[in-house]
Amino acid sequence: MAGSPDVMDKLVSLCKRRGFIFQSSEIYGGTGSVWDYGPLGVELKKNIKDRWWHAMVRSRDDIEGLDAAILMHPRTWEASGHVAGFVDPLVDCKTCKGRFRADKLEDARCPQKPSKQPGQHDACALTEARQFNLMFKTHMGALEESASIVYLRPETAQGIFVNFLNVQQSMRQKVPFGIAQIGKAFRNEITPGNFIFRTREFEQMEMQFFVEPGTDMEWFEQWKQLRMQWHLDLGLSPERLRFHQHTAGELAHYARAAFDVTFDFGGTLGYQEIEGVHNRSDFDLTQHQQFSSKKLEYFDQVNNKRYVPYVIETSVGADRVTLAALVNAYREETVEGEPEGRVVLGLHPAIAPIKAAVFPLTKKDGQPEMAQAIVSDLRGAFPVDYDESGSIGKRYRRQDEVGTPFCITVDGQSTGDQTVTVRDRDSLAQDRVDASQLRGYLAAKLAR
Ligand code: ATP
Repeated sequence: MAGSPDVMDKLVSLCKRRGFIFQSSEIYGGTGSVWDYGPLGVELKKNIKDRWWHAMVRSRDDIEGLDAAILMHPRTWEASGHVAGFVDPLVDCKTCKGRFRADKLEDARCPQKPSKQPGQHDACALTEARQFNLMFKTHMGALEESASIVYLRPETAQGIFVNFLNVQQSMRQKVPFGIAQIGKAFRNEITPGNFIFRTREFEQMEMQFFVEPGTDMEWFEQWKQLRMQWHLDLGLSPERLRFHQHTAGELAHYARAAFDVTFDFGGTLGYQEIEGVHNRSDFDLTQHQQFSSKKLEYFDQVNNKRYVPYVIETSVGADRVTLAALVNAYREETVEGEPEGRVVLGLHPAIAPIKAAVFPLTKKDGQPEMAQAIVSDLRGAFPVDYDESGSIGKRYRRQDEVGTPFCITVDGQSTGDQTVTVRDRDSLAQDRVDASQLRGYLAAKLAR
């Protein structure tokens, strides 16, 4: 059942077996908390990113897209506060050599048995907490000297701030407007884990909305609601989604207000942040003005005034949402007449990696040829799969397990009257559909 402690273990195994997610560099023993997306995983994550891009950029005229580089001028990270302040408190255990986040000890497990929190065994010897910067450093150019240090960006947001005026002026945007981008971010997390929940290389989908000071809290409320609705529209169950408001103590140095959208991952993880909605005030633009000595003001022509806009940020992890979608979708159920039951990924059809699978009932009587013709027709519109091996029941199970919403079967009747059956993954209902109408039939069902 979704929510039980071993769902994550089952998902890790399903994702590997069925080509969603593999451990990075597995043949060398793996790289710590870095994962590769396989053929079905890359489709699933891409579908999620495309939905976000559509909702945030394509369907609005007040948000522009951007794809800024990962490597930025090192001053960027001084201005943003990351060089001095992007740190987590770290403790080492001299006995077990484990490393833990001092502020998250209650979530950590000491490797000694029985399983306890670090520090709770008599033998535990924790050091004093020290600050550990989470940014990955590298060198630009041939010289490995301190002057050539650059960072792998720990968030995509700063690429947006430094391009604020480029985008505003080139696109003739007026405040309020936003800039959105999807891209990789890197954090040398002390305690990564829980599959793709917390990794050292991940993808963010961030949007910075620039507003006039004084109107910021109104926009903040609006974005909070819009972003929660996006997760609901993705098919995440309402009872698993909740806001968490940051208390004064939790607020980041730049934030005036912050809410997390949290999702119930079940098991020991429970409710965890999948997206942050932040009111960053004018902190970032003001800092970049100071550090670059370039004005980053907006000139409001109508009211003839200049100001540094406030920023409402929405920041969501593509990998974390992918994991939420997988956890939300995973179910085991019994099927009448089939004692072995089935595993289903009840993914929203719009994000399912394969939209339809086509099966000939038998390998003769022209059925494979008709099924192949249907596949080539549908391929122009959707990702589809062809499968002729094993019993029809086995073929259904294989597709259920990867979340394919529709299975199309070519049977003895099909070659005569050109109709096929379409089976719905969730209701198991079967419709008889004219083969020439399949594209339209599926398009209507998928456009939810
Ligand atoms: P956390 O408290 O979990 O470390 P955060 O508050 O530092 O997260 P933000 O900086 O607000 O996270 O990043 C925005 C989003 O980016 C998060 O909601 C999450 O979805 C994603 N994210 C952040 N760090 C990671 C990571 N290490 N692995 C995967 N996704 C991440």
